[in-house]
Amino acid sequence: MTELADHLADLTGFRDRDVMDVTLVTALREMLRPRSAGIYRCVGEPGDERWLTRARVTDNDAVPTSDPAWRPLSELPRLADRAAHHEAYTLESVVMVAGATNLCVFPLSTEREVFGVLEVETDAPLGLEAQRLVASVLRLYRNFHSLLDYSERDTLTGLLNRKTFDESFLKATAGPAAASTGSADARKSVEADAGCWLGMIDIDHFKRVNDDFGHLIGDEVLLLLARLIRSSFRTQDQLYRFGGEEFVVLMRCGSDADAALAFERLRHNTEQYAFPQIGRITVSVGFTRVQSGDTPSGAFERADKAVYYAKGHGRNQVQSHADLVARGELVVDTKDSDVELF
Ligand code: GH3
Ligand code: MG
Ligand code: MG
Repeated sequence: MTELADHLADLTGFRDRDVMDVTLVTALREMLRPRSAGIYRCVGEPGDERWLTRARVTDNDAVPTSDPAWRPLSELPRLADRAAHHEAYTLESVVMVAGATNLCVFPLSTEREVFGVLEVETDAPLGLEAQRLVASVLRLYRNFHSLLDYSERDTLTGLLNRKTFDESFLKATAGPAAASTGSADARKSVEADAGCWLGMIDIDHFKRVNDDFGHLIGDEVLLLLARLIRSSFRTQDQLYRFGGEEFVVLMRCGSDADAALAFERLRHNTEQYAFPQIGRITVSVGFTRVQSGDTPSGAFERADKAVYYAKGHGRNQVQSHADLVARGELVVDTKDSDVELF
């Protein structure tokens, strides 16, 4: 009983999903002595969903291992490749598989969605009491996830809020070094695709929308644009509502040209979308590659300067900070790495 209480205290001791997942599989290993315990998250686009290992520990491991969040989707197992995971995830119920190894797979969910599964692999089938214990721990895990969601997300759009940006920025941009818990293959692929980009999106003439149609319609536009942003980027990309009508995207990709394509897709999708009552709106986007040693505010300022340039040069466009510097449109002051607009 004391042991269980200690594990539950550990589980909720950090406001960090990575630590929470590692703590959960470690606690299950100590309580149930399984062959392995693993948490898997379903990632990827509809029709091409994959299993990302969030934390997995076997009876031989000293510490749990995980896939880095930016591991290329093509390297991850497909949804249907893990039949028991697939079934637990889609039916939202516990799935037992008996055999040489016995699997017990539990769906993992928040109030909003099922997002993955927990798999416990044991020598003998998991007894009813053990199943109940896991289910109770998972209820706590779910409640804590919902609380984290509440504090990390913007209530209007459901995107991440500004408060969480700095911490996520440091994690997302830690790059291959953060992949040290992954396999050698994972590290290799991360090195081949190791860039992180930050883009800032600002609605053009949004004040007019509020002035002409009122704040309620303005808020609806923000909600619809957030949906367009979500559908224009990949599920691993981190999407923030940064302020009133400003959004930030943190994404990993191979080159400035790839990043430009993704932001251009959003610009195009927005321009084409018929917003109820108000018709068309457009966005200006500035983006920059995150450099080693960058602070969140340093990278943010470069993207902001590229947005400012777009605003001054016709709006409804995507501008790369590096490109503007290369073209001599922005000057980098090497003394303090600041950038001045011509
Ligand atoms: P620009 O093209 O230069 O960006 O023009 P803009 O009118 O969009 O200018 P700016 O970005 O300075 O204006 C932001 C406006 O966004 C001001 C305010 O009326 C509106 N706004 C900010 N937050 C909210 C919000 O939460 N809801 C609504 N409805 N409007 C907001
Ligand atoms: Mg603005
Ligand atoms: Mg604006």
